[in-house]
Amino acid sequence: MTDLQAILDSIHAELLPRLGEGKVADYIPELAKVDPKQFGMAIATVDGNVRSVGDADIPFSIQSISKVFMLTLALGKVGEALWKRVGREPSGTAFNSIVQLEREEGIPRNPFVNAGAIAVSDVVLSGHAPREAIGELLRFVRYVADDESITIDDKVARSETQTGFRNIALANFMRAYNNLNHPVEHVLGVYFHQCALSMSCEQLARAGLYLAARGTNPITGHSVVSPKRARRINALMLTCGHYDGSGDFAYHVGLPGKSGVGGGILAVAPGIGSIAVWSPGLNKVGNSQLGAVALEMLAARTGWSVFGD
Ligand code: GLU
Repeated sequence: MTDLQAILDSIHAELLPRLGEGKVADYIPELAKVDPKQFGMAIATVDGNVRSVGDADIPFSIQSISKVFMLTLALGKVGEALWKRVGREPSGTAFNSIVQLEREEGIPRNPFVNAGAIAVSDVVLSGHAPREAIGELLRFVRYVADDESITIDDKVARSETQTGFRNIALANFMRAYNNLNHPVEHVLGVYFHQCALSMSCEQLARAGLYLAARGTNPITGHSVVSPKRARRINALMLTCGHYDGSGDFAYHVGLPGKSGVGGGILAVAPGIGSIAVWSPGLNKVGNSQLGAVALEMLAARTGWSVFGD
């Protein structure tokens, strides 16, 4: 039996001298205030155990990791029809790129780049007021994590609302191509609040378990999605979850994963468990620098890469 706690402890000890590497996201003023030397990691395994190290119980802004939960909700609402509005290919461009969206006539490459996630928020918004759609997401995340204490950080949402000029541009662009059905302000209200979900590594690792266990949370027994849908969401995370760093993440880590500019990464080891890591400093493409290093160490020490050990 692999001693996961010992592996987590060794990763933490080895990374301690490097804490603070990378650059915290400063285009969202609230995120610029975060102490870059924090580091946490948690593993929830399908047998129901959660092991963690460092600052794994401190809530942080999950940002784009929320796109995984919103995608799950949108697929539950409209099923495969979602793919008329969003593609399933890696973008090879920055998370907030505008150029590609124009070239491809308002259809974002995948649900994990910002434009794609904004289209997904529009789908979840259907038939709801923005407040209700946000409430639906919060209920869903609390349900999959089995934790009623999870909240949305209004300060972060407000901060991004005031400065999210690129996202405002992306949304207007899609509206011009008729790929948004609701007013831009409503869609972005949902999008900015989903990004402002505040969760610890322990909560996030538990929330990702349904993706590791064929769509059912093995701790609570809650069936969240079908095994086929869980497999497909994992496929998208592997190919598109790290923006134009997705190939590099697959090469080094070999697990489906989704990053956020808050410095978190959620990774899935199918059949084994769900892993969350948090280190606020980002690399050049906006993914957690040490988070990716920690996951590479974990994959090497456990043999969990989906491509073999
Ligand atoms: N809220 C961020 C944005 O839209 C999310 C980006 C990310 O986490 O990668 O810019």
